Amino acid sequence: MPEIKIIRSETTKIENVNWDKLGFGVYFSDHMFISEYKDGAWDAGEIRPYGPIPTEPSMCTLHYGQSIFEGLKAFKAVDGGYNIFRPDRNAKRLNHSGSRVCIPPYDESHFIEALKTLIRVDQNWVPQKRGHSLYIRPLAYGDGNFLGVHSSKTFKLIIMTSPVASYYPEGLAPVKILVAKDFVRAVRGGLGSAKTAANYAASLLAGETAKKEGYSQVLWLDAVNRHFVDEVGAMNIMFVIGDEIVTPPLDQGTILRGVTRDSVLELAHDFGFKVNERPITIEDVFEANKRGELKEAFGTGTAAVISPVGQLSYMGETITINNMEIGPVAQKFYDTITGMQYGEIEDKKGWIVKVNP
Ligand SMILES: *Cc1c(COP(=O)(O)O)cnc(C)c1O
Repeated sequence: MPEIKIIRSETTKIENVNWDKLGFGVYFSDHMFISEYKDGAWDAGEIRPYGPIPTEPSMCTLHYGQSIFEGLKAFKAVDGGYNIFRPDRNAKRLNHSGSRVCIPPYDESHFIEALKTLIRVDQNWVPQKRGHSLYIRPLAYGDGNFLGVHSSKTFKLIIMTSPVASYYPEGLAPVKILVAKDFVRAVRGGLGSAKTAANYAASLLAGETAKKEGYSQVLWLDAVNRHFVDEVGAMNIMFVIGDEIVTPPLDQGTILRGVTRDSVLELAHDFGFKVNERPITIEDVFEANKRGELKEAFGTGTAAVISPVGQLSYMGETITINNMEIGPVAQKFYDTITGMQYGEIEDKKGWIVKVNP
């Protein structure tokens, strides 16, 4: 691949950033990476000032949702450089998602090169504060202008970045989750294992309804039996039952393969925990709680890393898990992964990709 051209912005928006109140995905860094696919190939792409992209009303993705995305983070490390966590996994998953919605594959090492170059250009945007980070959002979509229902022949891949606050300003805080009963997110043979815009469109109404009722997210059950636990909004789900960590398997194709999920499972093996990837029904979870064996439940995902579940509500019944407190298992994974991300814990796994200042 030829070199990535860099067109630098003549101005910066960085003075407008309130670093004490970053929120999530509110501010966008000065530059973006953009690469185009035409005549059967992706170009090398360029970095240019972040800004609008001219779009016609007939642009196919607005109508038919041929769109996928990724999410990962860069961290200001204790050695003064910048750490990206497992970007090879995101590169692979981008192509997995693309294969499901007819978006042509992107060269994985060029994708990582683009990430690194973009972070170097906008390194001032990586927050300095421990817990904060630069969220990286790659996006790929068909951008042809037509109304016939078929795949686009042209595509764009865009990478934007956004400085974000820690999910938990005061440390890990357990959340309340509503188990979806009437809505489903993904069906067997559907899009569940791909990180597509369409999965999120399917989830919005349930999410908004749950929020109005005071829950932070929805837990999805399988779409066929409506008993088996799939995952939470943008997180995979794990339960500590007795001395075992239980999480649903990926074989139905209805669950997104989280990078955090994989990392937690690998660390769990290293730590000597018993890990069981097996189907688990919501009734099993409530029964385990009744027996006093449900010790912890937590979500895993890039945004929060680990998100302890303090309460689960299903069909009018609510259970409180570990007294609405953070459990030792959740805490251990959170400390280990964030420690590696900020370079405080030695990376023995080869999970960190360094970007030099
Ligand atoms: C992105 C995402 C996750 C979490 O994946 P990570 O790679 O760990 O961030 C889980 N579920 C869904 C539906 C997602 O979109």
